Amino acid sequence: MTQQDIEHIKQLLGSPKQIVIVPHKNPDGDAMGSTLGLYHYLKKFNHEVTVISPNDYPDFLKWIPGENTVLKHDSQTRGSNNLILKADIIFTLDFNALHRTGNMESVLSESKALKIMIDHHQAPDDYAKYIFSDISMSSTCEMVYLFIDKLGDTEKIDTHIATCLYVGIMTDTGSFRFSCTTSQTHRIAANLIEKGANNSQIHNNVYDTNTYEKLQLLGCALNNLKIIPESRTAYITLSQEELNKYNYKKGDTEGIVNYGLSLNNIILAAIFIEDKQEGIVKISFRSKGNFSVNEFSRAHFEGGGHTNAAGGKSYSSLNDTVEKFISILPTYNKALNNE
Ligand code: 5GP
Ligand code: MN
Repeated sequence: MTQQDIEHIKQLLGSPKQIVIVPHKNPDGDAMGSTLGLYHYLKKFNHEVTVISPNDYPDFLKWIPGENTVLKHDSQTRGSNNLILKADIIFTLDFNALHRTGNMESVLSESKALKIMIDHHQAPDDYAKYIFSDISMSSTCEMVYLFIDKLGDTEKIDTHIATCLYVGIMTDTGSFRFSCTTSQTHRIAANLIEKGANNSQIHNNVYDTNTYEKLQLLGCALNNLKIIPESRTAYITLSQEELNKYNYKKGDTEGIVNYGLSLNNIILAAIFIEDKQEGIVKISFRSKGNFSVNEFSRAHFEGGGHTNAAGGKSYSSLNDTVEKFISILPTYNKALNNE
């Protein structure tokens, strides 16, 4: 995004507009934090702003300021489509290919609105007029802060905006421990705390709301953990039956994949989660160092993401998916053991 782009955007936002902001499907802390942070910022200029999520998000995000105004496209389709089709501007945040919005893809493509992408994933598509894409960023929330800064408006950041943006920085950096965390990330987090983000309370709201069943599910996942030492790999499976047994709710499996990576000498971790309703196995990959799970997932599991964190899916059974994974791994042994 050039200085000229910023001037154009500034001009555009100089008069009241109808604006829609969209996160990716199954939005996480960064997707909800960034869209709602931008929402509160834009509301200050008398724009009509609506965040429209492709679908619902986990309960541990259902306290973020403004989340009660979010429309869910899958259950509020008609109202959402109307807003999308008559919008002047659509911001797409925390994703960079329209298919990441699931069923919203067609109406987003159809809409004549000017599109602005803010995102930190690799290999952006070029559906947007203005693209602020930077894979070195910890999170889209960090980028929304920088976007507001580019517009010369950091003094407009209030407690609501600061709280929203802090959520995504915290969740996408694994509470400031992943390698995507930079000195800039910490500086921005510090600024957000000064502007009113209650860091301890935010951490508490997101991470300390476990239910007994969620911990039991974690126990089950850890029981299922397997390691493949020669590939420095650990993987976890969760079948639909196991999910049902522990009364699985959206978000309950978030972060479980990271346990594999905490093992000594393991640099690739995966979790395979059966979803009978969608007819897929949802996969999360995490890695350490230069091994790119983005490339791995793109090549074999219709996914993508970042070098060290990516998602993917498979339409085969849980067993067949895991077998495919195990059969592919040896071709990567050299890369995995060079790390
Ligand atoms: P997670 O494993 O937590 O679902 O996702 C890890 C990262 O990869 C996130 O940044 C997420 O946005 C991205 N991601 C997850 N699933 C997919 C996918 O199917 N395609 C692409 N391109 N990215 C994904
Ligand atoms: Mn993100």
